Amino acid sequence: MVRYGELSTKGKNRKDFIGRLCGNVERVLADLESIKIYPKHDRMHIVLNGASFEEVDKRLKKVFGIQTYSPVIRTEKTLAAIKETSLEIMQATYKVGMTFKVATKRADHRFEYDTNQLNLMVGDYLFDNLPEPKVEMKHPDLVLRIEVRQDAVYISNQLLHGPGGMPVGTAGKAVMMLSGGIDSPVASYLALKRGVDIEMVHFFSPPYTSDKALAKAKELTGILANYSGKITFIAVPFAEIQETIKEKLPEGYLMTVQRRFMLRLADMIRQKRGGLAIFNGESVGQVASQTLESMAAINNVTTTPVLRPVATMDKTEIIRLAEEIGTFELSIKPFEDCCTIFAPPRPKTKPRIDKAIEYENRLDVDGLLQRAMDGIEISTIRPNEKFIDDQTADQDLL
Ligand code: ATP
Ligand code: MG
Repeated sequence: MVRYGELSTKGKNRKDFIGRLCGNVERVLADLESIKIYPKHDRMHIVLNGASFEEVDKRLKKVFGIQTYSPVIRTEKTLAAIKETSLEIMQATYKVGMTFKVATKRADHRFEYDTNQLNLMVGDYLFDNLPEPKVEMKHPDLVLRIEVRQDAVYISNQLLHGPGGMPVGTAGKAVMMLSGGIDSPVASYLALKRGVDIEMVHFFSPPYTSDKALAKAKELTGILANYSGKITFIAVPFAEIQETIKEKLPEGYLMTVQRRFMLRLADMIRQKRGGLAIFNGESVGQVASQTLESMAAINNVTTTPVLRPVATMDKTEIIRLAEEIGTFELSIKPFEDCCTIFAPPRPKTKPRIDKAIEYENRLDVDGLLQRAMDGIEISTIRPNEKFIDDQTADQDLL
């Protein structure tokens, strides 16, 4: 039994929420053929029909929009069946010394026993049949929940936590600027968590960056695809732009102008793909390109909302989350991406917008953008898809 998050959503939004969640759950469970899914307005039932709960449990942990869920046994609406099923569930989890209580909820008010009667009768039955039982009302180790509904009775004694958030897709589409670093995968996770259907935009610079830097970004996308089923990955060639900027502009503005080009390209791709916003992994003050002055100078190329989920997080907080979602290990592999290679030793921490524009006037901005757009490569990445060949990767690191 799956309970929904963000219960404040109502009306059409609620229908959309449930519809998306159902589709997303169906997708992550697609290969478990016996399973049937029944979405209702206040909860979803996933009937296992013999499928392993452990397997389903592992996957539901990554489906946004799920607040809590419980392995539940559905039983007929007779006192005898309720008692037997309750005992069966308790015997599977109860250990000597544990305390418990029974908590009944009744949606069907015509059922012959009320909640107090059921709590007492089932409690007594368990008390007589469990070894050394101990009842505790305030903070019991186990709560046996009995829900009497119109169609049947549902019984469980576990309450598991889902990831919360909103089903991916309910918030619309956006592009995510994904590097191979630590921060942007975490920002991606947080965007997905709010229901945003993201498409990855990754800038790469062959021959200055290796195939492995590209493979790393793709493999990170594969880890994140566990949270959404699949993710579109858009690789944008960036070498010509970087070479040109390096040749023609003063060093202090290399970084600012490069970033302005990246943002323009991300915005062009967003528009083509029907997205509404751009996400990135910037964190205030972390490096020269992420001071507020830098962000203002870079952001000046577009009025599209640029959202920064990790803007206010400390590096240690970002790392903790990266470890939790499983991207950290891969993020710290040292395959340099396009930014590290053309990074000037002393970028301006307070670049001026008018200066950036003045320098860009020396360049064929539209031609550079157009050629980069002509070279983009689009692919679809599935959960846990692998791109880095481990042996060659290890050799590289030696
Ligand atoms: P990250 O860990 O995400 O790489 P960072 O702290 O290293 O972040 P930068 O490298 O300065 O920061 O990049 C800031 C943001 O710009 C990134 O979080 C990402 O959103 C975007 N970005 C940087 N490099 C690329 C790239 N090669 N392709 C796409 N986006 C990029
Ligand atoms: Mg980086």
